[in-house]
Amino acid sequence: MNDIDMQIQWQEGRDESVEIGYLNPHDQQCCGHCGVLGADHGQYAYKTECTICGYVYGTKESDMYERRCPECQDGAAGIKYWKTINR
Ligand SMILES: [Zn+2]
Repeated sequence: MNDIDMQIQWQEGRDESVEIGYLNPHDQQCCGHCGVLGADHGQYAYKTECTICGYVYGTKESDMYERRCPECQDGAAGIKYWKTINR
């Protein structure tokens, strides 16, 4: 095991629509955030998975409940949700 494999702690948000495992009406599932802030002030970027095609991308908190997949549903491009070490 090396440092690259260090475990990320995924956390869920306070609202129902940003809980880990939440599935929105477009079959997009919330996978939690790891402390990275999204485009809006004070809101985290959530890792999101499309349960239709498997595409994984980032969504801002306020968009989670109505998010569409960038790959198969013509949704907006995903935002950065991952942490970069020492950069
Ligand atoms: Zn998709």
